[in-house]
Amino acid sequence: MSRRKQVYEGKAKVLFEGPEPGTLVQYFKDDASAFNNRKRGVITGKGVLNNRISEFLMLRLAEIGIPTHFVRRLNMREQLVRQVEIIPIEVVVRNVVAGSLARNLGIAEGTPLQRSIVEYYYKNDALGDPLVSEEHITAFGWATTHDLDEIMQMSLRTNDFLSGLFLGIGLKLVDFKLEFGRLYNHNDEMRLVLADEISPDNCRLWDIKTNEKMDKDRFRQDLGRVEEAYQEVARRLGILPEGGPGDVKAPSTVQ
Ligand code: C5P
Repeated sequence: MSRRKQVYEGKAKVLFEGPEPGTLVQYFKDDASAFNNRKRGVITGKGVLNNRISEFLMLRLAEIGIPTHFVRRLNMREQLVRQVEIIPIEVVVRNVVAGSLARNLGIAEGTPLQRSIVEYYYKNDALGDPLVSEEHITAFGWATTHDLDEIMQMSLRTNDFLSGLFLGIGLKLVDFKLEFGRLYNHNDEMRLVLADEISPDNCRLWDIKTNEKMDKDRFRQDLGRVEEAYQEVARRLGILPEGGPGDVKAPSTVQ
């Protein structure tokens, strides 16, 4: 029996009502999905690792002045976050050609980009998250041009910062996906903050020396050693749970 009210269940996470108004508990599952839910599976320990990895990255981003929804980690699989109104746009930043960009434009995966590309996708599973332009976003009222300016600025700063951070641990940040939300204060003033999570579920990370994939592409493409890749990212970040990889198999703490 659940003691807390579930607010939302996604493919990889569940959101519960938080302990105080305006907060939510974000629970990280081991469930993995790809190709708009056509491929499903479990990556053992992923929830524990993504909880830590996302905590670590969101805290580092907050330190350089990028506001996020993250408040604090509660336990192995849960973190407290601020309740935000999610903007229905997935922002993808790319530094190297891979994934759908390689497929759709017929350009070899691994081709470096002269400059980073920022793309917007409309968050809608039934439609398969279609690529949209700034025109669509403003015409349909999903965000204003002012919101988009801020989103673009925060996305590029996040890219610069995370590219450097990952480079420092021998990983190339090929591309990643961000989500943003509207956070309102007591005076009903709004600011945009980074929401959702940042983890190997939504970043492509390649080993600098070998180009080995260290992210969800190992699951998407059946490359094997999926759990090990997530553990290796956490290990290089210096945040593998105490006791090593064994710890990530601890039972869930959801109530
Ligand atoms: O599939 P695609 O190449 O467009 O993905 C670009 C980046 O966005 C990848 O890092 C992928 O993990 C991430 N992504 C995501 N959620 C989606 C689509 C893409 O996290 N729904």
